[in-house]
Amino acid sequence: MADLHPASIAAQAAGAVDAESGGVVPPIRPATTFLRGSDHALVAPRNTYGRDDNDTVREAEAVLRRLEGAAATLLFPSGMAAIAALFRTLPAGGRAVVQSGIYWGTTKWLRDFCARRGVTLDEVDASDLSALGRALDSPADLVWIEVPSNPWLLSADIAGAAALAHAAGALLAVDATAATPVLTRPLALGADIVMHSATKALNGHSDVLAGVLSCADAESAAWQAIATDRHDAGAILGPFEAWLLTRGMRTLALRVERMCANALAVAEHLVGQRDVEAVWYPGLPGHAGHDVARRQMQGGFGFLLSCLVRGGEDAAAGVAGRLALFHRATSLGGVESLVEHRHRIEPHSGIPPNLLRLSVGIEDPRDLIADLDRALAG
Ligand code: PLP
Repeated sequence: MADLHPASIAAQAAGAVDAESGGVVPPIRPATTFLRGSDHALVAPRNTYGRDDNDTVREAEAVLRRLEGAAATLLFPSGMAAIAALFRTLPAGGRAVVQSGIYWGTTKWLRDFCARRGVTLDEVDASDLSALGRALDSPADLVWIEVPSNPWLLSADIAGAAALAHAAGALLAVDATAATPVLTRPLALGADIVMHSATKALNGHSDVLAGVLSCADAESAAWQAIATDRHDAGAILGPFEAWLLTRGMRTLALRVERMCANALAVAEHLVGQRDVEAVWYPGLPGHAGHDVARRQMQGGFGFLLSCLVRGGEDAAAGVAGRLALFHRATSLGGVESLVEHRHRIEPHSGIPPNLLRLSVGIEDPRDLIADLDRALAG
């Protein structure tokens, strides 16, 4: 069935079952090598060797491909491995235009990689389309945006960025980790490639590290280079992780719905609190990216928000330290709520010292709000 909604695709793992036993859940297939018959022909021609042939991985990829409305999807052992696979397709002497103020791990790796590869890297506030347009007055190979951005929660306009990128001869790639395909489908808005850290909400249980790339055109030179690179260099997800990811994705739509509702409730509660200077959440009407987010996010504004605590770095660290239900831990998108005082972890990244990033889970929102109130009260 081609036209199912995301919740149905995910709940039934895009139709994967165990055809041999009749089980409604597909098995984990750990084999790294595959039989040939006495004629030396492969018993199952699609499988030669575990780098990168694995049907359990393909099943998880099929769910993601359907959720994105993509032509093809490939899984990687982490989000960063997926990002690296994409940027490795850039030629030496090429040019990448990358959104500023995105996940610090991406920025850090890109600066290093582009310098080593001889790729010109221009960082620009892509949530401002005219700034992006000026950066794309000269030709480029790749434009990279993150929607919404972590931890600034800025919403670059995907359709606008796609038009500008294409006019400059570039592909548009979108890191939509903090949106998930339940809320935003960048390929339908004109992007060429969409990436997720599947470690986050796609898996949702903080027990799998994975990354994913999906494309609009599987025949494009860029996608062919990515597929060849994964096949030859072997950055494939393991079958156990792929199986857990498929299991986690069955409840993706439900989890995202609850997380968005909780995040909105938390954001609205924090606005106007005496000890909170600002709340950054795309679902708040006063937020800079609210109009763009309303256009390109369906069903909610995500589970990630940041707030600036009045009183500076120590006051913010104190609030984070007093939270009892929110775990103090990095990452986002799990069923459990997390808080991070990013400045203490990455002081060099330009993050305001009084910023707390919250990843809101599926707990009862009354407990989350009570926890925040207690911590803010000191
Ligand atoms: N993109 C975003 C927006 C992230 O938040 C992260 C990790 O936090 C990554 C990419 C990297 O993903 P991974 O940790 O799975 O390598």
